[in-house]
Amino acid sequence: MEETRQVQGTWDLSTFKFRIEGEGINNMLKEMKEAKLLGNRCHQCGTVYLPANFYCRKCHIAIHEPAEISDHGEVMSYTVGYADVRGNPLDEPRVSLMVKLDGSDTWIMGAGEEMKPEDVHIGMRVKIKWAEHRVGNLQDMESFIPE
Ligand SMILES: [Zn+2]
Repeated sequence: MEETRQVQGTWDLSTFKFRIEGEGINNMLKEMKEAKLLGNRCHQCGTVYLPANFYCRKCHIAIHEPAEISDHGEVMSYTVGYADVRGNPLDEPRVSLMVKLDGSDTWIMGAGEEMKPEDVHIGMRVKIKWAEHRVGNLQDMESFIPE
């Protein structure tokens, strides 16, 4: 039986930054301009990564084989936020999702829109809502909406 846990806490994420680079990620961003997702696959174990990774985390080898990924997937985990990163109450609860897109073995995070927090559940089918004017960056994926 799976157990659902609630964690009460405060984290200051205002200084959180990360850097992504490499051939795979650059190809992925280029394809996103066309509303397509391109990850990559390990030629040894077959694991498919999105975002594309420059090495396989299981085999520890460089990987270059592109893999097309669907923009539809399944909610694997989620969080409902009621305050911003500084603790100020939000006007509306904010849904954040971890989604495993069809064709990928990894999860990506994104905002959930057009869904009530009480309707979100693990296993829920969602799809990416693409930005109308895409420029080839991560903001081209606006959010996840119900399938
Ligand atoms: Zn591998």
